[in-house]
Amino acid sequence: MIIMKFGGTSVQNAEAIRRVIGIVRGRMAEKPLVVVSALSKVTRQLCSIAEAAQGRREDEFRELLSALRKRHCDLAAELLPEGSALLQDCLGRIGQLCDELEDFVYGVFRIAELSPRSYARIVSTGELLSSVIVSAAMNAAGLSCHWADARRMMVTDCNYMSAAPDLEATEANVRREYPALSKGASVVLTQGFIASSVEGFPSVLGFEGSDYSAAIFGMALNASRVEIWTDVDGIRTADPRIVSDTGRIARLSYDEAAEMASLGARVLHPLTIGPARKRGIPVVVLNSSNPEGQGSEVSFSGEGAGPKSIALNEEVEFLRITSPKTGGAAAMLADVYQVLASEGLKSGPETVSESSLNIVLEVGKTASDNAVRRLREKYEVQVSTDRALVSVVGRDVASSHEVLSALLRKSAPVYMLSASPSMLSVSVVVDKAGAKSIVAALHREYFG
Ligand code: ADP
Ligand code: ASP
Ligand code: MG
Repeated sequence: MIIMKFGGTSVQNAEAIRRVIGIVRGRMAEKPLVVVSALSKVTRQLCSIAEAAQGRREDEFRELLSALRKRHCDLAAELLPEGSALLQDCLGRIGQLCDELEDFVYGVFRIAELSPRSYARIVSTGELLSSVIVSAAMNAAGLSCHWADARRMMVTDCNYMSAAPDLEATEANVRREYPALSKGASVVLTQGFIASSVEGFPSVLGFEGSDYSAAIFGMALNASRVEIWTDVDGIRTADPRIVSDTGRIARLSYDEAAEMASLGARVLHPLTIGPARKRGIPVVVLNSSNPEGQGSEVSFSGEGAGPKSIALNEEVEFLRITSPKTGGAAAMLADVYQVLASEGLKSGPETVSESSLNIVLEVGKTASDNAVRRLREKYEVQVSTDRALVSVVGRDVASSHEVLSALLRKSAPVYMLSASPSMLSVSVVVDKAGAKSIVAALHREYFG
């Protein structure tokens, strides 16, 4: 069997969903488990709804809720035959999900308080809505599709908005549930991103987490392939939104792909590779707008050393932490990581000396403000929000004289230079304002 994950743009409207159905139809012999994201932009809209309710902006969240309901009902009506039981049933389910969402959001509005648990409950609605529609559309197209609730299989901890799956428990659930789900159906369809906590409330795997869900289902079912269907022709030498003439990377190793993703290339969620690698399952990235394209395959075998891709991460804060005492690097590192972990913050590349530490942090709004406030009780902390991280990724790039000299030539001014211990990447912190042109210049240098 195989896993086929379709991201938000792949299911954004009727035309896209019809293409998805065509693609799945072509893979029926491989018994697909289809994993879908919310329709494009819906997760962000749900975030706005949650925040407007918390901020007591009733008109704003009411308007957003009714637009959300309308978009999903219109889409169902466009895809399903008029007057059919399928349409009736689908509209009923959309109506129920939207009613329950509205009640819940109204509760948040009343108490003006949004806990991570409530937030996750709200944002998890996007995948439920999209999956109900895609499943009905598949049935209307004669595919015999069984809708499955991912929350019954995917179990996580209680860090609701960025929950960590319990892989063992999830694997056991999937293996127990799947035979009944797939019995008599040619396709099983479920949701990415959403799960249930061990306490039994809805949780989500973190933004862009549907790729991770797909890999976990793949691992649990020992899939022969995990296909990630998105809006680009495979993994490219740089983000095609930044560089116009990128090339497709036909094959890359699990390590290279994980490195790229963790350095900000959003084509794959950073945690996707782990479960796939555990069972040696290839992850194939494909374009749902161009299904004939070859895409990229991620597996144990990459294709030689040298630069494969350039990643840019603009969603970072750059911290310089200095200790008033010298000689205390170990104690300072322990303090810093204890604070970052307790605030749930992810850190990127760093450099360290006897008395100071430069570190790239994923932007986390209040979490990073809290961390900085706590660190300032003991250390001097400079925070720069106008920096970006540019990284060159590929086997042995960090030990290549040519790679390093080109990187430094193109990147002035550089605020930090760091190589990963695996030599799979070398990164610079630069001014955000010039970061895209640095990526373009490096791309010409390495791939031009
Ligand atoms: P989905 O909604 O299908 O999950 P995403 O928007 O999360 O899609 O990921 C696809 C996007 O990733 C592309 O549109 C592209 O802009 C971006 N991207 C960043 N780096 C790369 C890269 N190296 N190769 C391909 N796409 C990349
Ligand atoms: N819908 C979720 C998001 O937008 C998960 C995903 O698309 O992967 O973050
Ligand atoms: Mg994505």
